[in-house]
Amino acid sequence: MMQHTYCPRCGSNLSTKFDGGRDRMACLSDGCGFMHFGDASIGCGGVVIRDGKILLVQRGINPGKGNWQIPGGYVEFDEEIHSAVEREVLEEAGVTAKVTDSLGFRHTAGNRERPSSNLYVVFRLDPISGEPLADGEETLNAGYFTLEEMTEKTGIQSLSLWAVRQALFHPPGAGFTHRSGDLELRAGWSLFGL
Ligand SMILES: [Zn+2]
Repeated sequence: MMQHTYCPRCGSNLSTKFDGGRDRMACLSDGCGFMHFGDASIGCGGVVIRDGKILLVQRGINPGKGNWQIPGGYVEFDEEIHSAVEREVLEEAGVTAKVTDSLGFRHTAGNRERPSSNLYVVFRLDPISGEPLADGEETLNAGYFTLEEMTEKTGIQSLSLWAVRQALFHPPGAGFTHRSGDLELRAGWSLFGL
């Protein structure tokens, strides 16, 4: 794991602290409480279906340049996750779409070679406007395709295929939906649930 020397919260020197069964880098300054639980990133992918056809993009960058997949990307640290997937669908495929529900998530644990974990959340979105248009950098092509056409695409990602099948075989709203009246949400919180 990457070793941090200074506390990202208050700038003090970090120390090693035994917590939860292992040594972790921690800030022992009064009132700070920062503890480094490891590096993590959050990704998001969007399944957009119009008239039974699935919105796909062709990757313009490595890894996997030329491969086809659902649009998606990384969630910025100060961005709501559903806004992130709507932004990525628009940026990568030129389609304005609105999240209806979440179809599932994939968690990737880190290891010695890649000391960062990742959570990739897949959403279903309703297309609102716009014809598919690649951005020419991150994506080379974009379009709507049938499931059969999708399975014949080059290097189609198994996770994309899984997510699309979930969307085709479970009605919109069957997954986790955005909840706002269920409990008092703090600023920055987004709750998705059954
Ligand atoms: Zn600190």
